[in-house]
Amino acid sequence: LALTLLLAACGQDSNRGGGGGGDRDPEAEGGTIGIAMPTKSSERWVADGNNMVQQFEDAGYDTVLQYGENRVENQVSQIENMISQQVDLLVIAAIDGSAMTNVLQQAHDAGIPVVSYDRLLLGSEYVEYYASFDNERVGRLQGEYIVEALGLADGSEEGPFNIELFAGSSDDNNTQYFFQGAMDVLQPYLDSGQLVVRSGQTKLSQITTAAWDGGRAQSRMDDLLTAHYSGQRLDAVLSPYDGISIGILSSLKSIGYGSGNQPFPVITGQDAELASIKSIIDGEQTQTVYKDTRELARQAVAMSDALLTGGEAEVNDTESYDNGVKVVPAYLLDPVSMDITNYQILIDEGYYKESDLG
Ligand code: BGC
Repeated sequence: LALTLLLAACGQDSNRGGGGGGDRDPEAEGGTIGIAMPTKSSERWVADGNNMVQQFEDAGYDTVLQYGENRVENQVSQIENMISQQVDLLVIAAIDGSAMTNVLQQAHDAGIPVVSYDRLLLGSEYVEYYASFDNERVGRLQGEYIVEALGLADGSEEGPFNIELFAGSSDDNNTQYFFQGAMDVLQPYLDSGQLVVRSGQTKLSQITTAAWDGGRAQSRMDDLLTAHYSGQRLDAVLSPYDGISIGILSSLKSIGYGSGNQPFPVITGQDAELASIKSIIDGEQTQTVYKDTRELARQAVAMSDALLTGGEAEVNDTESYDNGVKVVPAYLLDPVSMDITNYQILIDEGYYKESDLG
């Protein structure tokens, strides 16, 4: 009860399987899993949390799910609470991957193993496994989409086309992987002059978007359009995440893109969020990257189950994700590039219902 009250007082969710109280549920044979997610402001994290609660409970575990709402200190104190309530294992998608070292030490001291979820936990040896998607590939898919949509396949002399670049939050370890993957594809065309960034902002430090916030991206796009695009057309935007793409589209609409003879630029995204799938159907956003959060939850549950039952989890990457102290064994899932031609996959796979898209 104490935990339930405490969580209620913090305005956070408590998802206790089989009965609700704060005391340990005797039917949850496996123990209690503390799940720390970054924010409810994006659909994907809501889905991640719900999928994990469901799947852990199906596997006989109890869960406590908390959202830090993009405030590092919230997330740290939520995890501290989970540790003092003696959860048996922690699954963490960090807001700031490098701000967790103290709390991970505390988890270790309390004998609680940690699985890093989607975003790598940095600077600590107390991270057992990492479940994620191939983050660099996400960026490559975005870059390749732009190149193909503009007709810049190998050897083509098309162009020059104007492009602007947006990246994610600088405290998220994934941000650099997405950017690197995209730039591996785009850089040769920047070098040849077939792609031109009129703002000159091509360094990661110049193009990040704090907290992945669509409103901030919208303001930055407003500024770029004012300063560099009077009388010039913008042909493409590298956007790392659907919420950012929607912000950029609002900015573009406000100066007439999408009407008359000013079609929208090619604009990428990530997460296949509903608003973006609808936007793709309406001919606004061009592409997104679908990452099935149910599959990611499945990996996290399998890793957790292995850690708690003395087994070994399946991993498919033991090289790529060095957190500064150790290379964390990872299972990386395959992201899927999605546009108007294949979004039906979401319906076929039961990720959304047809009526969700209406
Ligand atoms: C995730 C992306 C997501 C972004 C913003 C990243 O860490 O990998 O799927 O778009 O955070 O929430």
